[in-house]
Amino acid sequence: MADYQLFINGEYVDAQSGETFTTVDPATGQPIAEIAKAGREDSIRAIEAARKAFDEGPWPRLSGKERGEKLNQIADAIEAKSAAFAEMEARDGGGTIKKATFADVPSAVAAFRWFAKLATEEAEEVEVPGTPFPPSQNWVRYEPHGVCTGVIPWNFPFIMAAWKLGPALAAGNTSVLKPASFTSITALMLGEVFQEVDLPPGVANIVAGPGGTAGEELAASPLVDKTAFTGSTEVGRRIMQLASGTVKPVTLELGGKSANIILDDADLDIAAAVTLWGTFFHNGQVCESGTRALVHKSIYDEFLALLADKAGKIVIGSQMDFETDLGPLVSRSQVETVERYVALGREEVGEPICGGKRPDGLAEGLDPAAFYTPTIFAGVPNSAKIAQEEIFGPVLSVIPFESDDEAVAIANDSIYGLAGGVQSSNLDRARSVANRMRTGTVWINDYHLLSPERPFGGYKQSGIGRELGIQGLRAYQQVKHVHANPGGSRDNYIHLSALSGNI
Ligand code: NAP
Ligand code: MG
Repeated sequence: MADYQLFINGEYVDAQSGETFTTVDPATGQPIAEIAKAGREDSIRAIEAARKAFDEGPWPRLSGKERGEKLNQIADAIEAKSAAFAEMEARDGGGTIKKATFADVPSAVAAFRWFAKLATEEAEEVEVPGTPFPPSQNWVRYEPHGVCTGVIPWNFPFIMAAWKLGPALAAGNTSVLKPASFTSITALMLGEVFQEVDLPPGVANIVAGPGGTAGEELAASPLVDKTAFTGSTEVGRRIMQLASGTVKPVTLELGGKSANIILDDADLDIAAAVTLWGTFFHNGQVCESGTRALVHKSIYDEFLALLADKAGKIVIGSQMDFETDLGPLVSRSQVETVERYVALGREEVGEPICGGKRPDGLAEGLDPAAFYTPTIFAGVPNSAKIAQEEIFGPVLSVIPFESDDEAVAIANDSIYGLAGGVQSSNLDRARSVANRMRTGTVWINDYHLLSPERPFGGYKQSGIGRELGIQGLRAYQQVKHVHANPGGSRDNYIHLSALSGNI
């Protein structure tokens, strides 16, 4: 039996094939657990359970208030085990225990609570006054889609699980979620929470297994009504293709190459700290990382010196130590990808001003092949591959500019449009720049700060749709218009009297 099993129809079960896969702690390469490896047939089983729970079960028929209460119970139950969730999140994916404790687990709880509040407070039916067809009345109803599936990446596994399940369940849908193979544990642990709060069987199902089989079924199945995906743009395209077979709505949260613009009136010391935080947090394995720093020429040299100095103070080590700023990347293969891009950067622009190697002097037992130092390339033309392609590692490209207009043009010269930053002491000027950036989020004098009350998502090839905010709930709702003629008199029937007078 696997250490962590699939969660289908309210029960933990092995994969039908009996197969398992090993998940490791990337810092040490040591195995953590054996996980049941779902194949296509297990995804089908989970989808069928979700279908039955939607078509016949109580969940979509509860009031929004009742669903809100259940989501709050889920949030309470996660909070009660927050240390266990944080430890597993950090160990399995390599993010620091500090991040898991102060960001991942509380943010997942906050997302469940936000969607609980929307389920409780948002009307499911709204009257539209002022009909052109008296004496009819008209309503707009917000109804669940049905079975909603989600496929999520390894960089924020627990938050991503909450961002998919929270709104799906709040709206009265049932769901099947597939976590990334590198980081399946915390999503699978949610099954215990669902059992504790007596979530009806089949309402939320979790299948861990390869994207190419277990994942594809979730997007392709004719029993699924809506699908949501967070991950690479390449796989996002595949999800869209698979979903098109049954014309399913898709929500896609994809890659990014976000620009953080440092204007010449910024407080340089703070802006340098924000830039490093905006790029290197979680080793740059964040879709909205500010991986292009656009710096005004008049402050360029001073700013570079500040960046290099502060970058040298970042503490690299075991992710399980609260003093560590950066742990390992998610896998050795991710480090190898970063190394390929750094080699390319050396060809394109020369030596980086800092980093460019694996760290020295790691504690015994840590695998240097899983770590990489924060790396900054300066004088990068925006056309360079390291400025255009998503690296998903601790690599920053610094690009000079001379005017606000030029900064905006460089920022927007990207296939992506997920996020960006503007650092300036003049809020009006910063807002004017922010408003011209073609991205779903812009931070002024900050970076990375998201909260469930505000929408998140991308322009251009960074995705389709929004998660969080009220928009995040609407993405999981169908919209129905009901026109009601009270009837009783021939005169009431517009189509009879005005348009089809002969019948
Ligand atoms: P990925 O390769 O796209 O994988 C994401 C998820 O999709 C994983 O669960 C993966 O399963 C699954 N998958 C892979 N191939 C699939 C297929 N053919 N059909 C269905 N599912 C499939 O991305 P990743 O390497 O995990 O994450 C890094 C990427 O995600 C980056 O490009 C980053 O920008 C993006 N990202 C975007 C956001 C956002 O909000 N916009 C957030 C986080 C990450 P396996 O794990 O089994 O391969
Ligand atoms: Mg792992």
